[in-house]
Amino acid sequence: MAVTTHSKARYFGKAVLGVILGLLIHGCTQANSNRSVSVTDGKPQVVATSTVIADLASEVGGEEIQVKGILQPGADPHVYEPVPADSRFLEEADLILYNGYNLEPGLIKLMNAAGGKARKLAVGEVVQSLQLDKGKGEIVPDPHVWGSAENAAAMVNAIRDALIELSPEDQEKFTQNAAQLTGELNQLHSWINQQIQTIPSQNRQLVTTHDAFQYYGRAYGIAIAGTLIGISTEEQPSAQTVQRLVESIKKIGVPAIFAETTINPALITTVAQEAGVKLAPNQLYSDSIGAKGSNGDSYIKMMQANTRTIVEALGGKYTPFQPKK
Ligand SMILES: [Zn+2]
Repeated sequence: MAVTTHSKARYFGKAVLGVILGLLIHGCTQANSNRSVSVTDGKPQVVATSTVIADLASEVGGEEIQVKGILQPGADPHVYEPVPADSRFLEEADLILYNGYNLEPGLIKLMNAAGGKARKLAVGEVVQSLQLDKGKGEIVPDPHVWGSAENAAAMVNAIRDALIELSPEDQEKFTQNAAQLTGELNQLHSWINQQIQTIPSQNRQLVTTHDAFQYYGRAYGIAIAGTLIGISTEEQPSAQTVQRLVESIKKIGVPAIFAETTINPALITTVAQEAGVKLAPNQLYSDSIGAKGSNGDSYIKMMQANTRTIVEALGGKYTPFQPKK
């Protein structure tokens, strides 16, 4: 039987897909090897697991504390495997701030095993979680709580209280810093709402690589229309899942879908091609802020950058965020 061009193309497509599936997800770097212990000047030593929490803690703590972030910008917290230096940081810490809701399972395990005197605060768990069904009746909390700026403000207040407990003499400073930051986060919250509303209503649908934008979607009125993988990036999507997503993108008719900075974009790129839609030119910052010097190198900048990327790719009209100080 002659093989038609069409079926050859299909076969080739499947083979390529298989290779890409194999390469997917664990493409992020773990750029921690050249980190060194810094001089702390006798300041309280705060260790934060995620880059979002490290950024918020640095803003609230200011000059009064030393913040060390374990995850580096661009690293994927779900699959991060701790290195020996991490246990030393955790053991030497005066306070450990982690996200919780199992965002960073490797680090949570290490933290619970490590000795040390530090209080451990699950900053993300001060926000009531969304419950997601992983299938087969397994319900898990969604850890991506920072997707709403209002939730981030609640996290800031929890960080402030923990820092005051750690260093009561700096209470006034921490209180001032936190008030300034939450003021800005409240403005960010309204700004994102306005921005998303400029997107034509039929386009207010988000398709991303992993399921990290539920809080964002609910806070700002944009539906999560599809994801390749669930709330943890550990999973590998099956060829069937990929095909289903392609079909559903064709059906909902969104103009663009989105890759993420912490995940290898190969497979979502293929999905966009097969569905005949654009891949947004900029990747979304999902589980990490951007590298220093990027347009997402703080929590607030990451939220602005994501919103700009979404608004511009889905046909809205972006206007820059200009908070009143
Ligand atoms: Zn995630």
